Amino acid sequence: MTGRPFEVRDDLREVRPYRAPQADAPVRLNTNESPWPPPKGYLEELSARVASLDLNRYPDRDARALRAALAARHGWDPEGVWVANGSNEILQTLLLTFGGAGRRLVLFRPTYAMYEHIARVTATEVASKDVPEPWTLDAETVAWGVSFEPPAITMICSPNNPTGNAHPPAVVAAALDAGPGLVVVDEAYGEFGGESAVALLEQHPRLVVVRSFSKSWRLAGARIGYALAHPWLVEAMQIVRLPYHLSSLTQAAGEVALRHQQQILGQIGEIIAERDRLAKELERVPGVEVFVSDANFLLCRTPWEGARLWRALADAGVLVRDFSEMIPRALRITVGTADQNLTFVETMRSVLADG
Ligand code: PMP
Repeated sequence: MTGRPFEVRDDLREVRPYRAPQADAPVRLNTNESPWPPPKGYLEELSARVASLDLNRYPDRDARALRAALAARHGWDPEGVWVANGSNEILQTLLLTFGGAGRRLVLFRPTYAMYEHIARVTATEVASKDVPEPWTLDAETVAWGVSFEPPAITMICSPNNPTGNAHPPAVVAAALDAGPGLVVVDEAYGEFGGESAVALLEQHPRLVVVRSFSKSWRLAGARIGYALAHPWLVEAMQIVRLPYHLSSLTQAAGEVALRHQQQILGQIGEIIAERDRLAKELERVPGVEVFVSDANFLLCRTPWEGARLWRALADAGVLVRDFSEMIPRALRITVGTADQNLTFVETMRSVLADG
């Protein structure tokens, strides 16, 4: 008994909303955002742009200026770029277009939990394979799923959330070569490490590369994500996209960001240096094992049961992400500022020492 006066779709009755805890805490290292706001010059130009917008009018339905700027950044065809409210909306649009009843999404676990959630919401079946630690994908593994009929959508997250490791383009190419399905490579963390699959696009009309402005671009609050693919695929996505889905404000935030890309993305090197420093510090905490990461977060295994350690850290003012339901005793820590990382390591050390 759910207590709903009108019941949801039969296939959604057991589905729970996807929610990462969004609590206020002095140190928030739980959702893989950038610890730094975008630069002042960006915010100033954006404010001026916003002041000049005709908000009484609908936005450009096809976000042409933003798509053209993204196409120029990647040396790709603007007709092969699609933009949406975060890469989650891109993934949802892809599954609405190419998934659905009687079709399958192939996943390699552990990976980003939203794939399965979006699959369920779009009535797409999920076929998943558990990848053993250290979670490396190989050609044989990614080729599994291609025998499905109708052809499946294979999802490869690189660098993978929450494990942090990137998968090389050769693995993506192997998935494409093995069969007739669609291959989606989620590069939400692609600017932090690993080799992009974008170079494969030219040769592969069934490949989609998905990227986000929420991590390296320091614009999680603006909600911008995009897909790079062949024009036929972007054209197909038009069937399900909503009219005027991307507000003028969002388009302006993206367009101005591309004009400031050097300054905005200039801090990636600092995040990577902090990540490597944090990994070294964390390894010195007794009983903690840190996994190699190509992203802006670290996964570690701790001596404690996940929920208990998460609670103790949260009580001490540090929010991280408990992944113990996916990987026993695993925590994921977003790389923050040097101060935040230090506070986290010291808190972790003292919590574990106090038992
Ligand atoms: N893909 C991965 C792997 C992610 O971790 C996230 C965010 N946590 C997203 C996509 C979605 O990001 P956004 O919608 O903010 O672009």
